[in-house]
Amino acid sequence: MTEQIKYTCSCCGQEHYEWPALTFKSPDNYDSLSQTDKETIAEIDSDFCIVNHPDQTDKYIRGTLKQKVNDHCEDLEYGLWVSLSEKSFDDYSDNYNNENHETTYFGWLCNDIPEYEFNASIPTTVFTRTGNQRPEIVPHKDFDHPFVKDYYDGISKHEAEKRIKTMVNKVGQNDTLKQDKKPWWKIW
Ligand SMILES: [Zn+2]
Repeated sequence: MTEQIKYTCSCCGQEHYEWPALTFKSPDNYDSLSQTDKETIAEIDSDFCIVNHPDQTDKYIRGTLKQKVNDHCEDLEYGLWVSLSEKSFDDYSDNYNNENHETTYFGWLCNDIPEYEFNASIPTTVFTRTGNQRPEIVPHKDFDHPFVKDYYDGISKHEAEKRIKTMVNKVGQNDTLKQDKKPWWKIW
C-alpha cells in the first residue's frame, strides 16, 4: 500500500497501477469495544480475533473478498472479518499452517462497507485456500441485500475508484494507507 506498483496488464496489454486492497484491521464488533474491553476481554492479531463476553465468546477470522469490476481488468479486493462457530474457528486455527487444508465454513460478515447500510449481518461461505493464502469470503447469493447483488452483478471502475478514495479518507491517519508524498490516487 505504501508503493503503487505499475504493471503491464496481461488482459489489455496496457500499463496499470495496482489497486490497493480495502482492508479492515479488525471486525466492527471489536472496534465498538471500549479501550478497557479491548485490553481485557479481547485478543486480536492479523488473522484472528476473540472477544470474551460474559455470556458468549465471539470468534473472528480475516479473509478476502473479490468484488468483480465490470469495465476493468482488475477486481477490487477487500480484507474483511467474518465470525465463525467455535468448531469452525478451531478447525481453521488448527490448520493455519497446513498448506493443503481445503474446506468451507459458514461465516457472518463482520465489517460494514461504507457504501451500504447494514441492518443485519450478511451470511457467507468461507473457502480456505491452499498455499496458506487468506480464505475467500463469498456472500450467499440468495440473501437480499445491495452488497450481495453488487457482488454478483459487478460494479463499475468508477465506483471501485470512488470506494478506494472513501477508504483512504476514512482511515486517513492510518499508517497502512497514509501516503507521505502526493496522494496516490492522483496518479490516475
Ligand atoms: Zn488491463
